Amino acid sequence: MSINVKDYEFWFVTGSQFLYGDEQLKAVANDAEDIVNKLNASGKLPYKVVFKGVMTTADGITQFMKDVNYDDNVAGVITWMHTFSPAKNWIRGTRLLQKPLLHLATQYLDNIPYKTIDFDYMNLNQSAHGDREYAYINARLGINNKIVYGYWNDSEVQQEIADWQDVAVAYNESFNIRIVRFGDTMRNVAVTEGDKVQAQIQMGWTVDYYGVGDLVEAVNNVDEADIDREYEKLKSEYTLVEGENEHDKYEHSVRYQLREYLALKKFMDDHGYSGFTTNFEDLWGLEELPGLAAQLLMKEGYGFGAEGDWKSAAMGRLMKILAHNKQTVFMEDYTLDLRDGHKAILGSHMLEVDPSIASDKPRVEVHPLDIGGKDDPARLVFTGMEGKAVDVTLSDFRDGYKVIGYEVNGHKPEAETPHLPVAKQLWTPVVGLKEGATQWMKAGGGHHTILSFTISPQQVKDLFTMLGLDVDFIE
Ligand code: MN
Repeated sequence: MSINVKDYEFWFVTGSQFLYGDEQLKAVANDAEDIVNKLNASGKLPYKVVFKGVMTTADGITQFMKDVNYDDNVAGVITWMHTFSPAKNWIRGTRLLQKPLLHLATQYLDNIPYKTIDFDYMNLNQSAHGDREYAYINARLGINNKIVYGYWNDSEVQQEIADWQDVAVAYNESFNIRIVRFGDTMRNVAVTEGDKVQAQIQMGWTVDYYGVGDLVEAVNNVDEADIDREYEKLKSEYTLVEGENEHDKYEHSVRYQLREYLALKKFMDDHGYSGFTTNFEDLWGLEELPGLAAQLLMKEGYGFGAEGDWKSAAMGRLMKILAHNKQTVFMEDYTLDLRDGHKAILGSHMLEVDPSIASDKPRVEVHPLDIGGKDDPARLVFTGMEGKAVDVTLSDFRDGYKVIGYEVNGHKPEAETPHLPVAKQLWTPVVGLKEGATQWMKAGGGHHTILSFTISPQQVKDLFTMLGLDVDFIE
C-alpha cells in the first residue's frame, strides 16, 4: 500500500438564474466550459476538472451536491458565479455537501472592455457581485470552503487551485488511513497519547493495536529467498559500509532488518494498514528495533511513528499523500545550536529517519543503539537537504486536537558527526529559533514532527482547517 491514490476528479459548476433568458445561459455554459478546458490543458492541475453545467435552481443544486457525495471518484467541488445566482438557492445543497469546496472567484475577461461594454455585457458578466452574494452564504454556513480569487488563466491562480486539489484529495484519503500499533506508547510519555476515538471521528483515522508477537510471527515467516532479492536491491540503491563490524555480523544485521521490512510490509498490506508504530520498550521476540526496515517503508509512503506515536504515523501518511510522497518525513527535535549566527535545530531520530530528504547517497551502517537492550541494528545514514519547509505536529488537549506548525529554513549540518551515526537534517524556524520554539512550546507542541519540503504553509492551514482542527501556525 504505497501512495496509490486513485484518479480523482473535481466537479465544476457555475451559478446563474433564469432572469437573463436562454441565450445568456448558453453563453454562461460556453464560457464556463472554456475555463474548465483551459484549466485542464494548463498542465498545472494534478487532477482533472469536469464541467457539470449551469446551476439555476435550488433543486438542481441540491441534487448536484447529493451526486457529488455519492460518487467515490469525486474529491470535491469547484464553483464559480458567472452571473448573479441568488444564494438562498445554494443553502440546502451546500449544507448536504460532505466534500471539499473551492469557490473560484474569477471573471471570464481579465479587463473592462471600455469601448464595447454595454448592458448585454453586464447581464452576462456579473462575477464582481455574483461571487460576493455566493460567498456570503458559505461564510454564514461556516463550511471552511476555500476561496481562490483572481483571473483564472493566471499561473498563480492555477497554482492555488492545484495546491487545493492536493489538499482536497488528502482530506478524502484521510478517512482511509489505518495505523497498526505494535506495542503501546512509550511508558510515562505524555505527548504521544491521544484520543483514538476522536481521531477517527474527526480525521477518519483507524488506529488498532496488535501484540508484538503477531509481528514476530510474521518476521519468522519471511522467506530467505525474498531477503536475498531485497539485499541485492539494497546494494544497487545504497552504499553498504561494513566499517568495524565483522562481515558476518554486518550481513546478519542488514538481513534481519530486511526480514523485518518484508514482514511489516506484508502484515500491513494483508490487513489494510497504511502506517505503523513500534516501541523500543516492547520488542519481545525481535532481535533488533526496526531501523532500516522503518526507513525503507517510510520511503515507500507508509506512515511511521516511533515510541508508539500513532498520531505522527497517521499525520505522516496524510501529509505524504498531499505531497505525492515527495520530501515529507517523520522527524524529532534532536539537539540544538544556540549560538548567534548558527541558531538551528538538528532533527534526527536514533534510527528511523526517512531517506526521502537525503541529499547524498545514504549509507547502510550497523552500530550499537545503547537503548532497548537488543542487537546492533542496521540503519541508513545520510545528510538532509536545503530549502524552505514546513514543520508540523499534533497534540491532544481536553478540548480537542490542535495542529502546531511553522515554516522553517532547512540546511545541512556544519560538520560530520563521526560518533553519532544517524541521518541528520538541520532547520531554523523562519520567525527565528527563539520566537518559534517558544511559541511552539507555549502552544503545547511535542518533539515528534512531520517535516515537508513540498507542502506549503497555506496547504497545512487549509488541510487541517478542512478536517475541523484548531490550527496554530506560528508566523
Ligand atoms: Mn522519538
